[in-house]
Amino acid sequence: MGRRGIKEFRAPEALALVAADRDGKPLVCPSCGTESITRTPKRPSASAPPELGRIALHCTKCGRSAAYLPRAPDPSRSPESPYPPPDES
Ligand SMILES: [Zn+2]
Repeated sequence: MGRRGIKEFRAPEALALVAADRDGKPLVCPSCGTESITRTPKRPSASAPPELGRIALHCTKCGRSAAYLPRAPDPSRSPESPYPPPDES
């Protein structure tokens, strides 16, 4: 794996980033720790229908990228976020 010139996240890093995106949390690069993550396409509003296409996450700081295909929402999970708002301090 790994095309020349394309850096990819390690598997656990990619999983963490994908999980954060799925949960609607701020995207912080698991490799370099910055919030320089570009999401393609842009994250839709909460009322938008579920996305079906490939979602690419790219860190403009360290150049690593990850991509995933969103799955249908897990019915066993509450649609409400189980996490507290990130900017509560
Ligand atoms: Zn990075």
